[in-house]
Amino acid sequence: MMTTTTHNLASLGEFGFIARLRQKLRDQAGRTDVVLGIGDDCSACTLPAGELLLTSTDLLIENIHFRRDWTSLYALGRKSAAVNLSDIAAMGGTPRYLHLGLGLPQDLALDELDAFCDGFLDECRAAGALLCGGDTCRSQTGMFISVSVQGTVPADQLVRRSGGQPGDRLYVSGTLGDSALALHLLRQGQAPPPTLARRHHQPTPRLALGRAVAVAGLAHAMIDLSDGLLADLGHILQQSQLAACLDPAALPLSADVRRHLNHQPEDLDVVLRGGEDYELLFSAPPEAAPRLEQLAVRLALPLTAIGSLQPGEGLWLCRPDGSRQPVEARGFNHFQSGQPA
Ligand code: ADP
Ligand code: MG
Repeated sequence: MMTTTTHNLASLGEFGFIARLRQKLRDQAGRTDVVLGIGDDCSACTLPAGELLLTSTDLLIENIHFRRDWTSLYALGRKSAAVNLSDIAAMGGTPRYLHLGLGLPQDLALDELDAFCDGFLDECRAAGALLCGGDTCRSQTGMFISVSVQGTVPADQLVRRSGGQPGDRLYVSGTLGDSALALHLLRQGQAPPPTLARRHHQPTPRLALGRAVAVAGLAHAMIDLSDGLLADLGHILQQSQLAACLDPAALPLSADVRRHLNHQPEDLDVVLRGGEDYELLFSAPPEAAPRLEQLAVRLALPLTAIGSLQPGEGLWLCRPDGSRQPVEARGFNHFQSGQPA
């Protein structure tokens, strides 16, 4: 029987999709900071006087960054926004505006498309940020998702990768390796425990933490953990021109990761080098410790000291018995790893 219902993107069309997206954005109507949102050639948005504009872009490609048989489209929508918002958190900024570029297969079911958009917009709303525009076209090889995020930060609160000082303590938020272990298990054909799966498919950008650290001037250098602890710490070391000691026994691990490592201690590498934690790693002077403890309580988010910055060059695992083992500041690298998703 013929119906007039629209079931997939092909029947909806590009402009049908944009109209549908605008419907979902009705609750943005009252926002006076957006002068022009979706519908014109450019968006036009206001910025707080005297603040710096932060802009970052991230690309998510099907079968490179995600597999549609492992994630719901709702979670994928949330994650597409979250990984971008995390970059704003890492600078100490406030996220404001997002733009969304989509390459979509024509046969994408309408409920899948809706779930993706709902997830994306829910993540934006949770961050107080607004979708203001984008571009949509057909893809013949899976989904492409390109997100640009803009935020602002008062110039004197900007936290760079390059500001680390010798003697700083290294802190990390939350727990490490949950996402990487979930992915590791998925690749082995196993179902990860739900808490780990959620950390992989639906990470939480640490916006309140990034902002609080910046406002209080507690961090000298900061980065969000997307490529893995060692690799991202390596970026701080390279740009701050310093060395670091990490205490592997101090790494904050969830109960699931601990349990797994008890049986398979060799998978510590998954924790150290695996990506997509989207926690914040920052360096802070020792005198900031009491205020960071208070902040952790206020945000109900653990902040763990895992090592320190030192003069020189290199990265070591330093154990309480005084032994030092050099490690390479390397994690996931797109052009060196042939691994899909
Ligand atoms: P143009 O041809 O000028 O690039 P388009 O026809 O591509 O404009 O888009 C029309 C409007 O819809 C623009 O305001 C654009 O920002 C918005 N738009 C298109 N695709 C998306 C999307 N995926 N997300 C948000 N806004 C979108
Ligand atoms: Mg366009």
